[in-house]
Amino acid sequence: MTDVISRVSRQPKHFLSDKVSHFTESVIREMTRQAMLYGAVNLAQGFPDFPAPAEIKAAARAAIDADVNQYAITWGAKSLRNAIARQMGLWQGIDVDPEKEITVCCGSTEAMISTLLAVCNAGDEAVIFEPFYENYGPDSILSGAKPRFVKLRPPASGNGEWTFDEKELRAAFDRHTKAIILNTPNNPTGKVFTRAELELIRDLCLEFDVLAITDEIYEHILYDGTQHISMASLEGMRERTVTINGMSKTYSVTGWRVGWAVAPETITNAIRKVHDFLTVGAPAPLQEAGAAALSLPAEYYAKLARGYRERRDRLIPALENAGFKCFHPRGAYYVMTDISRFGFPDDVSFTKYLVKEIGVAAVPGSSFYRNARDGSQQVRFAFCKKLETLDAAAEKLARLQPR
Ligand code: GLN
Repeated sequence: MTDVISRVSRQPKHFLSDKVSHFTESVIREMTRQAMLYGAVNLAQGFPDFPAPAEIKAAARAAIDADVNQYAITWGAKSLRNAIARQMGLWQGIDVDPEKEITVCCGSTEAMISTLLAVCNAGDEAVIFEPFYENYGPDSILSGAKPRFVKLRPPASGNGEWTFDEKELRAAFDRHTKAIILNTPNNPTGKVFTRAELELIRDLCLEFDVLAITDEIYEHILYDGTQHISMASLEGMRERTVTINGMSKTYSVTGWRVGWAVAPETITNAIRKVHDFLTVGAPAPLQEAGAAALSLPAEYYAKLARGYRERRDRLIPALENAGFKCFHPRGAYYVMTDISRFGFPDDVSFTKYLVKEIGVAAVPGSSFYRNARDGSQQVRFAFCKKLETLDAAAEKLARLQPR
């Protein structure tokens, strides 16, 4: 060994892959670190600061006490897969075979990347609506897919809907298109795709033989009478849809890391292979608690949505009074805002000022766009927080000076 050291003395080479040079660490999670650094109210990263339901915490403890402490079946505990299949039937009328069509992963984050790794070849294209949840960018790079972005345009008045241009969407599809990534209810815009919009996307998927990968993690967080429609429930889409979901948002357990992908058998087999070698499996006792969570009564979901509506309606007026233009979300728990009234050159300098001088952390809009300038006058706030937390943020935001 010593001999080798004396013979071979050179600087280590540049060991990094090209892939990692094409994306940065998550801005959302960086903002949480900044919030901690400055002691700011964290309205950046989307995780609840209130307790998870007592029943499911008890179910997790019971599973650990019963020694469910070794690997679950790699593609998911049977009890959880059965519960997922049952609820998809109940909520969306989708018939799912729990033995062949479900892969439980470490969060929907892993379900998404395992799916992309399972279906994409280098050169394949993935259509993505923009602004997009920031993970989809690195996910595409890591899986070799080339993203084709289609703009979601903000409403002229804060209370209107985000829309897309049908021609622009069509133009993004061609013979290289492998998949479209859809997130409804949407992060960061709060858009809930309508049946007509989904049918339009469906028709393109059929025409161009494209797979829909739909992230439906906010499916129960809906406002103003909107309805969540799963792409897989549309005629013709069951065989060409991967539906991604998880426990994080519905049961307020973002740190448990239990999510899943539901797909036709052949695609599921491919996702299961990737998942197996990436992570082996999601936490076994928490999967048992997941089965209990999915058995909560309907009233649980109504209460969840009511609670979020109250939080939304608490934060938006505070933001508007402080000078933000708010795009009112119809689902999920974020509000995208326009910051042009504050006269900052860009969203990053604004959020830095906000976290350091005002004491509120938010996410710069540019992290949801391919070109930073597209989001340079937008900032996202998360309202999955206690009313006290939102009030504390409101008090601080009142010190902002629109120019
Ligand atoms: N989905 C959450 C957000 O957009 C957090 C995701 C995460 O940090 N994994 O803030």
